[in-house]
Amino acid sequence: MTTRLERAQEIAGSKGIDTLVITPGADLRYLTGYAALPLERLTCLILPTNGEPTLVVPALEKSAAAASGISFEIVSWAETDNPFALVARLVGSARTIGIDDHMWASRAFALAKAMPAANQVLAGSVVQELRIRKDQAEIDSLREAGAAIDRVHRQVAQWLRPGRTEREVGADIARAIVEEGHETVDFVIVGSGPNGASPHHELSDRVIESGDPVVVDIGGTMPSGYCSDSTRNYLAGGEAPADYVKAYAILADAQSAQRAYARPGVTAESVDSVGRDIIAAAGYGEQFMHRTGHGIGQETHEEPYIVAGNTLILEEGMAFSIEPGIYLEGLYGARIEDIVVCTADGIECFNNTPRELLHVEV
Ligand code: ZN
Ligand code: ZN
Ligand code: ZN
Repeated sequence: MTTRLERAQEIAGSKGIDTLVITPGADLRYLTGYAALPLERLTCLILPTNGEPTLVVPALEKSAAAASGISFEIVSWAETDNPFALVARLVGSARTIGIDDHMWASRAFALAKAMPAANQVLAGSVVQELRIRKDQAEIDSLREAGAAIDRVHRQVAQWLRPGRTEREVGADIARAIVEEGHETVDFVIVGSGPNGASPHHELSDRVIESGDPVVVDIGGTMPSGYCSDSTRNYLAGGEAPADYVKAYAILADAQSAQRAYARPGVTAESVDSVGRDIIAAAGYGEQFMHRTGHGIGQETHEEPYIVAGNTLILEEGMAFSIEPGIYLEGLYGARIEDIVVCTADGIECFNNTPRELLHVEV
């Protein structure tokens, strides 16, 4: 079996990169399984295109790194050593160094100084080419994450009450995100009434009023390292404004058309336009001001982005969100979001709670 490290070596080689240098973050975790914390002391994977990998760690992290199951050489540096000189020695005569896109600028500069003859290029596309196609174990992990966040959405109605603040409701949701199996809460958006018109509004002390539409967009990271992300819309008692009901029906049509359309062989941008055309034809084009979606895996936002201009052709194993929205400033907003993965001939949807506006009985 070809390992992720071996496949990364092949791709790096095909791009003319001699050695990859990867610091803590999603790429390191994906390649090695080591979820190192991004601390001030340097930790990095050195992966030559032809040769054996080495993990450079501060001495005090050595046993933690070994415990994560690293099966190749771990070289540690002592508290007063210069780790960049050590990396330069291990990299040796390699000329083109692919550095992690998310490496701190201070480290990239220090590496450049320690290896004056080397040429630094970005390594992000190498690992991204791997991460963009999920294998079976990753798909299973995303399915579990989707089921866990669905269990949270099924409980939201019991906490969403007129007279409570977004922050109070958000605290209940955050607790449930962990109780339902996530290791961490990544975000809790409770956008009530006019706050729903701001797509990335999080929580405020606004008191939810009867008849407020409420956007609830929540996600976390599972112990597997894979993320969840799903948005549903609730009505906290009362009656929804008639214009909202009309816009919501169009949004639901657009989102379901996008789910029916998305499959391997179509471009990422065409999934966006299938929904955008429906929303624009109904007169809400300007009010859908963000892309349709983002890839998801060990990070909530990664490739592929479902956005105009992205001509990438979707393939089996690509996982992403389908989350069109309509936002009426000063009034309310709505967004419906599911995580899906391309199967051989269509998609599997990981979020399966009802998508209609959920009337909370109070
Ligand atoms: Zn977002
Ligand atoms: Zn999302
Ligand atoms: Zn979301």
